[in-house]
Amino acid sequence: MNSITKTAQQNAELLQKDQQFVWHPYSSLSDPIPAYEVVSASGVYLKLADGRELIDGMSSWWCTIHGYNHPVLNQAAKDQIDRVSHVMFGGITHAPAVELCEKLVAITPSGLDKVFLSDSGSVAVEVAIKMAFQYWISQGQTQKSQLLTLRSGYHGDTFAAMSVCDPKTGMHHMFDQVVNKHHFAPAPQTGVYEEWNEEDIAEFTEIISTRSDQLAAVILEPIVQGAGGMRFYSPHYLKRVRELCDQHNVLLIADEIATGFGRSGKLFACEWAGISPDILCLGKAITGGYMTLAATLCSEEVSRGICEGEAGCFMHGPTFMGNPLACAVANASIDLLLSSDWQANIQRIETLLSAQMEVFSALDSVDEIRVLGAIGVIQMKEPVNLAEIQKKFVAEGIWVRPFGKLVYVMPPYIISDRELTTLLRGIYKVLA
Ligand SMILES: *Cc1c(COP(=O)(O)O)cnc(C)c1O
Repeated sequence: MNSITKTAQQNAELLQKDQQFVWHPYSSLSDPIPAYEVVSASGVYLKLADGRELIDGMSSWWCTIHGYNHPVLNQAAKDQIDRVSHVMFGGITHAPAVELCEKLVAITPSGLDKVFLSDSGSVAVEVAIKMAFQYWISQGQTQKSQLLTLRSGYHGDTFAAMSVCDPKTGMHHMFDQVVNKHHFAPAPQTGVYEEWNEEDIAEFTEIISTRSDQLAAVILEPIVQGAGGMRFYSPHYLKRVRELCDQHNVLLIADEIATGFGRSGKLFACEWAGISPDILCLGKAITGGYMTLAATLCSEEVSRGICEGEAGCFMHGPTFMGNPLACAVANASIDLLLSSDWQANIQRIETLLSAQMEVFSALDSVDEIRVLGAIGVIQMKEPVNLAEIQKKFVAEGIWVRPFGKLVYVMPPYIISDRELTTLLRGIYKVLA
């Protein structure tokens, strides 16, 4: 690994400027919590400025599935930089984007045939919602202007995305008065492998059947609810949602920004239920964590509905749409994933997480343990003190970033059994 270590003084100066000038995610500049400076990263290890190495349990928020500094992804980025890093997408096209869109159509659930590229997950969600609204406007059904979603969901930080995040756990409740009002059904209660009980979807059924004339779409995270609660739910629920959407003429948007590309044990979480949404959002792991890129796929029916309407086109076009560098790395990352035995690998991680996390349930402070695919969740009885616990994790040589009562890991798929054991032992030591 690259050995750029810094003196204690250089490190302190940088952190001082960081606190003076730089906003971090959900952070205060008045009472800042010191951040850790990363100088390089390789495999599952983050290297700090003081020379310490941490095992990354977060895959940098679901993204770095192949680990850091991967030679294949490095090469793809370098090759593309020497051709063209960026070019506008209006009136111009290029091989990396065409290859990526063809690939995404091929690997996602059937019926998703058209791809809109954008630059972040939240924007992919905005695009999905706008597609649904424009579809109904184009059909002359302008009253279909509401969304139905699930509690404990998370769909991003921009305004339309915020409006469908859980009003309490979704981090945006203070904007209640500012965001558009939509409909919320209770979070599904039936676990992935638990027996289905139709009661679980009763309130959802009630809302969709009484409000279908106003509903443009249902938007949800299939099987795994991420940042709104780290919850897993029954594929039957998702199947019933698909049936109810068809029955009541409401579009279904699946947000697979966190679950896409293998994380839940299926390439896409919709496969758990064997369903296809009308619109699908992808992001996070799409480039293996190298570049910011996202995609919104839709059915032929949705794209035709939009394009044959009054506007004659879909009304969206980000500046960095289809960035060639990002597309080239995405192609390399997806090829790398598909050419590996990724299913066996996720299964290996799931088995190890399940076996080694059992001991956590015996801790007084722990409420519940949940594992699905390469995701392990420890739900605490009380919210953790982030600043304090973060320091302790770093002292154990691991990078874990809890929120609220949730301490969780979703490591890079390349993590070895030994590294995963070290990660979990470190968490156990700190929680115990
Ligand atoms: C992270 C996430 C988003 C938002 O993506 P950004 O790239 O942070 O804008 C949306 N939906 C889900 C399910 C996510 O996990």
